[in-house]
Amino acid sequence: MPGDAPLLERLRAICGDAAVLTGGDMAAYATDWRGMFHGRPLCVLRPAGTEEVARCVAACAEAGTAIVPQGGNTGLAGGATPDESGTEVILALDRMTAIRRIDPVGMTVEVEAGTILQTVQDAVRNENRLLPISLAAEGSARIGGLIATNAGGVDVLRYGMTRALVLGLEVVLPDGQILSRLRHLRKDNAGYDLKQLFIGTEGTLGIVTAAVLRLVPLPRHRATALIAVPDIASAIALYARAQNEIGEALSAFELISGAGLDLISEHMGQTAPVHADWVLLIEAGSSLPGLREAAEKLLEAAFEEGWATDGVLAESGAQADALWQLRESLTEAEGKAGGAIKHDISVPIPGMDAFLQEAGAMLRDVAPEARLNVFGHLGDGNLHYNVMNVAKEDAARVNAALHDMVAAHHGSISAEHGLGQYRVAEWARLAGAVEHDLTHRIKDALDPAGLMNPGKVVPTRG
Ligand SMILES: Cc1cc2nc3c(=O)[nH]c(=O)nc-3n(C[C@H](O)[C@H](O)[C@H](O)COP(=O)(O)OP(=O)(O)OC[C@H]3O[C@@H](n4cnc5c(N)ncnc54)[C@H](O)[C@@H]3O)c2cc1C
Repeated sequence: MPGDAPLLERLRAICGDAAVLTGGDMAAYATDWRGMFHGRPLCVLRPAGTEEVARCVAACAEAGTAIVPQGGNTGLAGGATPDESGTEVILALDRMTAIRRIDPVGMTVEVEAGTILQTVQDAVRNENRLLPISLAAEGSARIGGLIATNAGGVDVLRYGMTRALVLGLEVVLPDGQILSRLRHLRKDNAGYDLKQLFIGTEGTLGIVTAAVLRLVPLPRHRATALIAVPDIASAIALYARAQNEIGEALSAFELISGAGLDLISEHMGQTAPVHADWVLLIEAGSSLPGLREAAEKLLEAAFEEGWATDGVLAESGAQADALWQLRESLTEAEGKAGGAIKHDISVPIPGMDAFLQEAGAMLRDVAPEARLNVFGHLGDGNLHYNVMNVAKEDAARVNAALHDMVAAHHGSISAEHGLGQYRVAEWARLAGAVEHDLTHRIKDALDPAGLMNPGKVVPTRG
């Protein structure tokens, strides 16, 4: 196919007619998970392998056409949704789903970027290994999307964010070249660690086509508890004690509000075995015996100190799963209740109590009608501070007020969801001149034509 043929014709020649979607077939790809962003793509490409991705990207680069990479389309920042111009191409990785190799001794897995997280988890579990990325969207989110957003989730406390698990990457660069660094190595200090450029940069510098990820041993014993606490100060005191007593085994320390439990009961028909203004979902795992006894001792101490007022320690795997179901239903319940202005904030853990009190007081002032659904990863200092029942025209004001408070507490306005298109303006407002400059220099160096996911992460120059 000559280089001057119309773009759609060239793309069909590369991927095959069935892999180039247009018209109504694009609907599922053109709107984000929350239904907040609606794009109008030129077409949706579904290449079958890295070579095809590279040839599509080269063809788009030649035509000056922008590309929006897409994995499972579960992102919460609108990063995978194109604009409404009808000129951007969505490049979906959903046909690239091979698990190429599992190495249970070196404890690595090599997968294509379109593989669904849960599929990889199931495959490595058969080898007695764990891929420790765990989030409520794991049945839909894909490896490339998790890497591109540097996803967090409920295992970060013990295992780190996705970045900590990426050993090697294969990436198609904005000009169509393939960077192949699929190394199964834990140690590799030979030169710049180029893969970091593509982790957490939301498809603005290249398209991840495959990855090598680090695995860990699958814990044989698990302790899961749902604990009611009188206040946030008690929750933090219990967290510090848990770190001292079962620190190596502690994998999740999650906070749920009583208001969140009410949402779940109202909209999902699930009832929690304990209820209070604040409850904690705590999980620990170990290959060594004695974990349950250690967890029981910790909980006894919590009751003695007055940090806990009620609680259950799961008696079985099924009971533990039911407790997790509560946590994982929060986002859906919130959606059913009418949605929220979402904030994905982090602040240093010792300042969390003061932050929540100040933020609550500020909201009572700025948006007295607001209802809160606050939950998240307290052990990571990361909360989803979601504000419900606020008029659309007040959203920007509430956002700015909360983000200013986050900045004053030396926190982050996007702890794990990225900026996408949803938070890019707020990042631009709060970031310093040097951060702006360096961000633009990196973007210009890798993607000088600005064709890789434009309008996301990198603010438009003023
Ligand atoms: C119910 C629910 C719960 C969630 N819980 C969490 C949570 O606890 N922690 C958390 O961090 N996130 C959470 N998320 C958000 C989301 O699941 C993550 O951001 C996930 O990493 C997105 O993966 P995806 O495959 O769906 O990516 P997409 O939504 O398709 O894309 C996300 C971004 O990555 C880019 N991208 C996708 N694939 C590639 C690729 N191959 N190469 C380059 N760029 C690419 C896209 O352009 C976009 O900018 C949750 C979402 C839902 C719906």
